[in-house]
Amino acid sequence: MPGSLEQDPEACHTAWMFRHASQMPWCHQCKFHRPPRTLHCATCNICVEEYDHHCRWVNNCIGHRNFWLFLLLLVSLFLYLVALLVTCVIFLVRILDMPLCIEKIMSFIVALSATGALLPVFLLLVVLVVSVNTARRPYELQVSRAEYLCPDTRLG
Ligand SMILES: [Zn+2]
Ligand SMILES: [Zn+2]
Repeated sequence: MPGSLEQDPEACHTAWMFRHASQMPWCHQCKFHRPPRTLHCATCNICVEEYDHHCRWVNNCIGHRNFWLFLLLLVSLFLYLVALLVTCVIFLVRILDMPLCIEKIMSFIVALSATGALLPVFLLLVVLVVSVNTARRPYELQVSRAEYLCPDTRLG
């Protein structure tokens, strides 16, 4: 209908990406044709451009608009954990000659916790840096490219 803002779910919308045509699938929840590399988050109930994942820690979707902020958060968390670990190790080395005390036990517990948290943060950071380098989101590696870009195969 001319002049109408409503979109037709049956209408065929095509987007060009990397010199390839991709059909823009209809999102039944948002009621619009979503662009390529956009997925509907069931938790937030919205379509997210360049959807990466829904992060339970920040209670939000990670996508095009906040990907760099999420990366910055991970880098700062990683640096914080490294600084915490180094401080605890230096403190433990300095009080090595002292008998067992509460400071020694607490420093050991904090150093152990920082070490345990450092590995998953580092791995997530590596995954995100690789996704930035390859311009592919981790979600795209799980879902086939054809399904992600063109889930509806009506175009043929
Ligand atoms: Zn949607
Ligand atoms: Zn979400």
